[in-house]
Amino acid sequence: MIRHRYISGLTARTVGITFLVAVTVIGATLLTNVTLKRMHLTIEAMTDSDMENLMTSVRLVQQSESLIALDLILSGADTHTQRRTALIELNDRIDWIDQLTGTLLKLPQQNEVVLRIDSTQKQLSDSVQLLNKLVRKRIDGTASTRDLAQIPALSATNQELAGRLSVMLGYFAANMRQQMTKRSTQLEEEINRHQLNLIMLTGLLLLSTLLAGFYFEFAVVRRILHVQRAVSQPAISPDQIRVSGVDEIAQLATTVGTYVARIQAQEAQMRKIHDELAYLAEHDSLTGLANRRHLYAAARRMIAQSLQPVCVAIGDIDYFKVVNDRYGHAAGDRVLIHIAEQLRNGLRETDILARYGGEEFALVLAVRTHEAAETLINDIADRVRHSSAALESGEQVNVTMSFGFSVIDASTVGEAEEQEVQMLLNQALNRADDALYHAKERGRNRVILASLTTDAEEAESC
Ligand code: GH3
Ligand code: MG
Ligand code: MG
Repeated sequence: MIRHRYISGLTARTVGITFLVAVTVIGATLLTNVTLKRMHLTIEAMTDSDMENLMTSVRLVQQSESLIALDLILSGADTHTQRRTALIELNDRIDWIDQLTGTLLKLPQQNEVVLRIDSTQKQLSDSVQLLNKLVRKRIDGTASTRDLAQIPALSATNQELAGRLSVMLGYFAANMRQQMTKRSTQLEEEINRHQLNLIMLTGLLLLSTLLAGFYFEFAVVRRILHVQRAVSQPAISPDQIRVSGVDEIAQLATTVGTYVARIQAQEAQMRKIHDELAYLAEHDSLTGLANRRHLYAAARRMIAQSLQPVCVAIGDIDYFKVVNDRYGHAAGDRVLIHIAEQLRNGLRETDILARYGGEEFALVLAVRTHEAAETLINDIADRVRHSSAALESGEQVNVTMSFGFSVIDASTVGEAEEQEVQMLLNQALNRADDALYHAKERGRNRVILASLTTDAEEAESC
C-alpha cells in the first residue's frame, strides 16, 4: 500500500515529469552538438579536398595548353640551344603535370578520367623524348629521310596529345566543380533536415511544458481549490471535501474531511450542552416546570400583549413539612412532581406555570373576569384535593393547596417599559402572596382573591 502510494504520489509524478523534460533538453542539446560537428567536418572536407582538387585541375589545364606551343618550338628548332631550351621547358611542364596527376591519383575519388590523363601524359612524355632525338639528329645533319619525315608527324601527334590532355583536364575541372555543387546542395539539404529536427524538438519541449502545466492545473491546483471551496462553504459537508485519487492531495482532503467531521461533532455536542444549560437555566430540574426567571420573562410578555385581564396566583402545599417528616424527603419530591402534573393538566396551553419556591407554585393566566379566574383556580385546587400521589412504598398521599391571587388590568399596560411591566408583576405577586398568607391563616385549603382580602372576604372552596 505504501509502495503503491509512493509510485502514484504527487512527488513521484513531479520527479517523473521533471526527468522527462530534463532528458528532452539534454537530448536536444546533444543532437544539436552532433549536427553542428558533422556540418563542420563536411565543410572542412569540402575546403581541404575538393578545393585542392579543383585548383590542381585548373592549373593542369593551363600547363597542358602551353605544351602545344612548346612542342612547335621544339620541332622547328634550328640550333641545339633552341632545342634544349624548348626541351627543358617541355620537360618541366610534363614533370609538373606528372606530379599533379600523381596527386590526383592518390585521392580517394580518382576516376577513369584521371587514369586516362595519366596515361596520355606518359605517352606525351615519351613522344616528346623521341621528337627531341630526331630534331637533334636533324640539327647535327645525321637524320635520315625517314627521320625528317617523322618529325612533323610526331609534332602533330604531340600537339594532339597535349590538346587531348587539355580537354580531359578541363573535363576533370568541370567534374570537380559539379561535385562541389552537389556536395554544397547535400550540405544545404542536411542543414534543412537538422533545422527541421530542431524545430520538432523545440515543439516537443513546448508540448512537454504545456502538458506539465495542464497536469499541474488539473491534478494539483484544481483539486486544492476544490478542497478550499468545500471548506469555505457556510454549511460544510465532509463528503464534499473528498477528492479522487490516492496521492498527497487526496490524503490531505481526507484529513481535512476528518477534521471537519470531528469539529462538527464537537459543535453538535456543544450545542446540545448549550441547549441543556439554557433549559436548566429556565427550568426546575425536579418538576420540569419553568423557574422564576422563565416565569418573569413569560409573564411580562403576557401582560404586555394580552388584551384581557391577567390573573397572577401563588399556590402553596398545605402542611408539606409533615409529608417530609412522615414519609421522607424522597417521598416529598414525588409529591411535588405529582402536584406539578395536576397543575399542568388543569391549565390551558397559553397559561404559565412555574415552581415559585420550595413547595410554592405560580400561575399566570389570561382571563375574561375575576370570576372566571377564581373558577379556574378553584378547579385546579379541587383537582389537587381529589388526587393522590403514589409513593414507591405503594402508599397514597393526599395533600391540599392554598391559593392567593390577584388580577392585573393588562389592557391599560400598552407600550409600557419592561421595568414598569416587571413592577406591575411584582406588585401582583406580592398581593397574591398576601392573599395566600390570609388563606393559610384562615385554615388553608382555600383560594383567596387579593383585592377582597381587605374586606376579609374569602373565595373559598372546601
Ligand atoms: P404551611 O401549610 O404553612 O405551608 O406548612 P408547610 O409545612 O407546608 O410549610 P413550611 O414552610 O413549614 O415547610 C415547607 C417545607 O417544604 C420545608 C421544606 O423542607 C420542604 N421543602 C421545600 N422544598 C422541598 C423539596 O424540593 N423537596 C422536599 N421533599 N421538600 C421540600
Ligand atoms: Mg406549605
Ligand atoms: Mg411555603
